[in-house]
Amino acid sequence: MLTVLLSILLGLGRIPAPQMPQAPPLHIYWIDVEGGGCTLVVTPAGEAILVDAGWDLDRDATRIYDVATKAAGVKQIDYFIATHWHSDHYGGIIRVSHRMPVKKFYGNGPFPDSVPDDPAFPELMPRYRALVDDHSIILRAGDMMPIRQASSVAKLEVQVLAAGRQVEDVTRGVPNPVCKETENPAPDPTQTADSIVLLFRYGKFTFFDGGDLTRKMEEELVCPVNTVGAVELFQIDHHGLDLSNSPVLIHSIKPRVVVVNNGPDKGAEPKSMQTLFSAPGVETVWQVHRNLKPGKQLNTSPEFIANPQREGNGKAEFIQATAEPDGAMTVQIGVLGTRRDYPPK
Ligand SMILES: [Zn+2]
Repeated sequence: MLTVLLSILLGLGRIPAPQMPQAPPLHIYWIDVEGGGCTLVVTPAGEAILVDAGWDLDRDATRIYDVATKAAGVKQIDYFIATHWHSDHYGGIIRVSHRMPVKKFYGNGPFPDSVPDDPAFPELMPRYRALVDDHSIILRAGDMMPIRQASSVAKLEVQVLAAGRQVEDVTRGVPNPVCKETENPAPDPTQTADSIVLLFRYGKFTFFDGGDLTRKMEEELVCPVNTVGAVELFQIDHHGLDLSNSPVLIHSIKPRVVVVNNGPDKGAEPKSMQTLFSAPGVETVWQVHRNLKPGKQLNTSPEFIANPQREGNGKAEFIQATAEPDGAMTVQIGVLGTRRDYPPK
């Protein structure tokens, strides 16, 4: 009897098909800090991870605050990660902390006593240390960020692939054939090589943020064994400077979409851009800025550039990405600019 009733109800369409609970998306914002690093990730659970915070300028703190509160809708920064101790990466967080709470601070190792290639260090680092009260947490290769999960539907993992020149030790695995393309880059003695490298994995979606990593360390990540795998989304290393972006890395991680976090006079350099434009599988290259340096420069198509002019201290446009656990992704300039959808592969 029950079976008959059930089949009648089903036939009438009165019993809806069971619905899979929908996992909330992951949001990523590239805030224009004029050649610095600043990537805001809002997790499916609504937590805010700020990876780098631009320069020690009100301009950058205001832009970060505006994107965080208006576009991303967050009230605090839950985790601030300084990929390395250069002032275009941790400089802005002091002023951000005057505008909104910043809960936890992470770095690539013990605080250095000096950073010879950064003239801002002697003045800036003591102020940063006063802010964090020496409670900066050291991230190490292999660590997982202790983030909250939205649901059991899809888990977001934020993994540290490298930090302080250490790469997770992978001795087993298939040798990466791309390694034979190496140009044997020289070791880099500066802070850039100490950058924290993060891999965000949300279901089938992956996003790689390597800070300012330079070529030698880039190759250590993928040679002899590729510890990264293929990624959907790649934030170009080091703003697109040619000291970074080894073809060995890019041909190994095979990004589908690339965001170049450059400034009008910094980054998006010709070799790096050429590597992206010629890499098989790259569908779109987005730029925070048009490279306005004199001479012939390789820029992406104008519709994928957030800031084509010099906007000085005025308002600047950001780039945002929205990703779903099935691998689908949307990238857009600001809230009204060019938008492109990338269906799952
Ligand atoms: Zn930088």
